[in-house]
Amino acid sequence: MSNPYEVLLYYKYARVDDPEAFAADHRLLCQRLGLRGRIVVATEGLNGTVSGTKSNCAKYREVLDCDPIMAGIDWKIDPEEGHVFPKLSIKVRNEVVTLELGEDDFNPVDRTATHLKPSEWREAMKEDDVVLLDARNDYEWEIGRFEGAILPNVPSFKDLPRWIRDHRCELEGKKILTYCTGGIRCEKFSGFLLNEGFDNVFQLEGGIVSYGKNEEVKGEGYEGECYVFDERLSVSVNQTEGAKLVSKCRSCGIPSIRYRNCAWMPCNAQILLCEDCEKTMGRYCDCRCKEIDLMSRSAVIGI
Ligand SMILES: [Zn+2]
Ligand SMILES: [Zn+2]
Repeated sequence: MSNPYEVLLYYKYARVDDPEAFAADHRLLCQRLGLRGRIVVATEGLNGTVSGTKSNCAKYREVLDCDPIMAGIDWKIDPEEGHVFPKLSIKVRNEVVTLELGEDDFNPVDRTATHLKPSEWREAMKEDDVVLLDARNDYEWEIGRFEGAILPNVPSFKDLPRWIRDHRCELEGKKILTYCTGGIRCEKFSGFLLNEGFDNVFQLEGGIVSYGKNEEVKGEGYEGECYVFDERLSVSVNQTEGAKLVSKCRSCGIPSIRYRNCAWMPCNAQILLCEDCEKTMGRYCDCRCKEIDLMSRSAVIGI
């Protein structure tokens, strides 16, 4: 099957003096190239994931690679059959990833931990006294993570600093290896760890996505799938024979990576639900959502 489209995942920590102006120009560029996706611009840089035709994605990469502020992006490229986003959204925010450090905020251009290439990471994973620390949200690591990693149960990135302060003792004196989807969160998070006084901190260069594409390691040591923020919802990482699923249908417990949204609209929670369970019990997170939804529906049609 040919894949005339691409999905790009990328970021750049840089100094953007006028994010509003940058975003306005960027919007024109993306519209001209027919790209869809989500882009965030801040004074600290650019964070994006877009889909578009192969040739237009190539033009987009060329423009950014020639931009003196943005040059040097480590592009993660996936071939696809079509768009994986419904529309284009470009936003100006205070941060490219929201850690909300307030007065203690910093730019990873100034402070970040040592990067490990996938093969170095694989070796470091095997050392003694090492902790792997997942820097993603709970619904992300639920469907996949590095074997043996510490999985902070935080619903959002901005909750991580507090989690770290509450769990210092698990990390103190250890070599910390931290990772995220594409690397952007770790650049900031690892800098935060350094600022917190942990001095033996390393991060996976290019994140899980690059690790899965790497010819040498082929995603070895990663279990399950990698959550992505587009219509695909997840991509595979481990290309070796040891690959397995870690996530389960919330209803019957069989291995599943099938995400659905709870059919009761006010809830709309994203849940793992296998096809059989959806057929027999409906698309709900639990009986309560099902009951309320069926009640409100019958009220509308007057029965
Ligand atoms: Zn099931
Ligand atoms: Zn629900």
